Amino acid sequence: MEYRSNKNGEPISILGYGCMRFTTKGGSIDIEKTEKEIMASYHNGVNYYDTAYVYTGSEAVLGEVLERNSIREKVNIATKLPQYLVSSANALDKYFNEELKRLRTDYIDYYLMHHMTAKNQWDKLEKLGIKEWIAQKKASGQIRNIGFSYHGNSEDFIGILDSYDWDFCQIQYNYMDEHSQAGLEGLTHAAQKGIPVVIMEPLRGGKLVNLLPEKAKQAISSYYKGYSPAELGLRWLWNQPEVTCVLSGMNSIEMVNENCRIASNATAGCFDSEDFALIDDIKKIISETELVGCTGCRYCMPCPKGVDIPALFRCYNMTALESKSAARFEYAQTVGLKETPAFATQCIECGKCEQHCPQNIPIRDMLKKADKEVRPLPYKVGINVVRKFMLRK
Ligand code: SF4
Ligand code: SF4
Repeated sequence: MEYRSNKNGEPISILGYGCMRFTTKGGSIDIEKTEKEIMASYHNGVNYYDTAYVYTGSEAVLGEVLERNSIREKVNIATKLPQYLVSSANALDKYFNEELKRLRTDYIDYYLMHHMTAKNQWDKLEKLGIKEWIAQKKASGQIRNIGFSYHGNSEDFIGILDSYDWDFCQIQYNYMDEHSQAGLEGLTHAAQKGIPVVIMEPLRGGKLVNLLPEKAKQAISSYYKGYSPAELGLRWLWNQPEVTCVLSGMNSIEMVNENCRIASNATAGCFDSEDFALIDDIKKIISETELVGCTGCRYCMPCPKGVDIPALFRCYNMTALESKSAARFEYAQTVGLKETPAFATQCIECGKCEQHCPQNIPIRDMLKKADKEVRPLPYKVGINVVRKFMLRK
């Protein structure tokens, strides 16, 4: 297992165990099977286990497995505050203490504000006294490192990152999302500040494995290095020194062993020009299935009316590559819940964006088509309801 380090120089395995997708049996987590998988990863050198308050049963199972095998002190637990449920200072302790109890521990190694999508969420927590609360938890040793997990755009990511002295952060990042959400821009900014970055959705929830177009699968299988689609995606990440740890939601011994094998010899700079050429080919093949040829370069931004053009086009393309429901969910969480709305319907057709688009996309027309697909009426209503709930002061 290769290791990189946190802010204090402590080792973190480059492969982290994502505990969101443990196998279930009869409606609850299959603890015997999960225990074997966790212990296999531990024996292969994994020392970072990522769970959350809202992953049903996950914290309790992880706590039980670590206690049963007497390895609590030897691994790092990362878990998350459901900040979107917090509306009073008392709730901070309530959730945290419940998590300690579930995890059978009296401290958390890496504690994250869960699922931040916009800067205003951090502002709200600040008003509730989160900074003082964190200072007190760190002083008492109950929290060792503080961070946040993020799903909004790069501007808000940088805004949150610059608002506090974070120990680490967690972003969605993979070779198809290089320029979406926090993206390469966010990753680079974090690295410049010396903040370790944990990666989630390294294979887009398996989409860069199972849902690759047939032509892309063939291109990978005929590559002389013998990489699997998963190996290609993981190596692309570990090639980047700015990446500290990559989470994988492993739920079979085979997957644990395979990922640990790859993580045992993946180093920063391990990608060569042929590997990059293969990634470019795969991206090209995927883009052939796209509905709009947007590269996410953001030259069209900012729009004077605040429309998030590349985010909408990315989600529009997801309707073809993945599924409409996945695209609509992605759009709702990355754009729909921002404090300042960024919807296509705000467009006044000034045409400024089209003058800057190197792909010559007829942006104004495409925005209308994309908005209809990504935000049909029931979703519009749903987003408005959730906005009222989540963005309340
Ligand atoms: S045409 Fe619409 S989307 Fe483009 S810059 Fe003007 S207002 Fe924004
Ligand atoms: S300038 Fe064109 S290609 Fe670049 S993000 Fe905007 S729409 Fe996409």
